[in-house]
Order: sequence, then C-alpha cells, then structure tokens
Amino acid sequence: MNIIDVHAHLGDDCVFDHRISEEDLLRGYRKTPVDGAIVQPSLPRFSLRANQEIHDRIAAFCECKSMKLWGMASIYPHFTEEEYRREAYRCIKELGFVGLKITPIGHAVNPESKDGMFAFSVADELGVPMMVHTGSGIPFSDPMKVLKAAKTFPKLKIVLAHAGMGMFTHQAVYVAEVCPNVYLEPSWTGIFDTGEIYRKVGARRMLFSSDHVNNVPVELKKYESVIPAHELDWVLGKTACEVFGI
Ligand SMILES: [Zn+2]
Repeated sequence: MNIIDVHAHLGDDCVFDHRISEEDLLRGYRKTPVDGAIVQPSLPRFSLRANQEIHDRIAAFCECKSMKLWGMASIYPHFTEEEYRREAYRCIKELGFVGLKITPIGHAVNPESKDGMFAFSVADELGVPMMVHTGSGIPFSDPMKVLKAAKTFPKLKIVLAHAGMGMFTHQAVYVAEVCPNVYLEPSWTGIFDTGEIYRKVGARRMLFSSDHVNNVPVELKKYESVIPAHELDWVLGKTACEVFGI
C-alpha cells in the first residue's frame, strides 16, 4: 500500500511562528511508513519575492531522492491578479507542482471574496486541485465559505484541509455532500467526527495528511480505527493519486 501525506509544510512560518526544515521532514518521515508527501510553504513574509523563494526551495527539495515529494503552491491571494496568476503558472507549469492552497486565516482571505474567487478561477484554469484550510480562523475558515467556489467551478477539485477540525466538520461534510468535486482531508479532526466523514462521504473522498510530521502516527492510528481495512488504501493513498494525478 502506498501512503501519501497530502499536506506537509516547509520553511519559516511568520503567522503560526514555526520553522520546518528539509531535514526535519526527512528525519520525521523516516520513522513512519509514509512513502511520499505533497509539500507546501509554511507562511512566508507577505512579499512576492518571499513567496517565490519558498516555492523555489520546495521545488529543490522535491528533487531529493530519499522519498517521493511533490510541491503545492501557496500564494497570497491579495497580490495583484497578474502577480497571482503568473506565480501560479510558474509553479504548476515550470516547477511541476500539483496544486494550489488557500489558508484563509493566514492569507487574511475570505474564500467567497473577489480575491478568493480569483484564486479558485486560476486553479480551475490550470486544471489543478485547490486545497483550502478550514476550521481554526472563523469566519473565513468556515467550510461553508467554500460552497460558492465549489458550485461555480464544478470541475475544480477542492480539498478541505482539516475537514473543519471537528468544530466545523458537520459543515465540511455538508459541502462535500452537495458538491461531488469536494474532498475532505481530516487532519486534527477527532475520531468521532472522522467517523461521520467516512459514513457520509466515504473513503474515496478522504485524504490522509499530517500537517506536521510528528502527527503522522496519530493520524494513521485514527484511520485504522475508523476505516474498514478493505477501504484504508483509498484514504491513505489512492484518493490522493486520483485527486492530484500523481
Ligand atoms: Zn497546514
């Protein structure tokens, strides 16, 4: 079974105040059965240059041979539309990244706003999934804020990171129930709510992730106790391969 962590961070984060190095990730994963990871920026300083630098650093890290790694771009949606689009195209077309990310709490963006919707339109244009942080950071991180984009761009695959983090999991499940293009990534969501996600949305629309590498063992145990053995491979890797085309 291939285990893919779809949500890992690299770099110095000036919003959440943490630092994660290449070595931290490699050393962390070495102790786990994870085969590959999709790596996105920790939140850099709010300049286009800082944003480009962390994307370049991720692209260089993805060349490492110790494990399978793919990049995900996280671009501040309040750059100009031209700046946003150009950096998104560079990451996907030149650096080979496999998706985009919006972090409403970190990017100070309401997913339903003009700038938020523009970011979704670029992902749709590029034909790559958009991951959106949900849960902490209300009101912008309420999963319901993604409903408008999910309906406006029915072919765009949208991954709700953290699946509402428990407190808003019911809303994340609702959005996934009414929009077949929405997938749930329940890192940090507890056993009870993860069970609800499985029953209502199913393993083929669930994605395993750690967010922080030391969370891998906890997340793996969670799925072992919630997901029947014959469907576990979907949550741990097969859904990720389908959604991100990896
Ligand atoms: Zn994260």
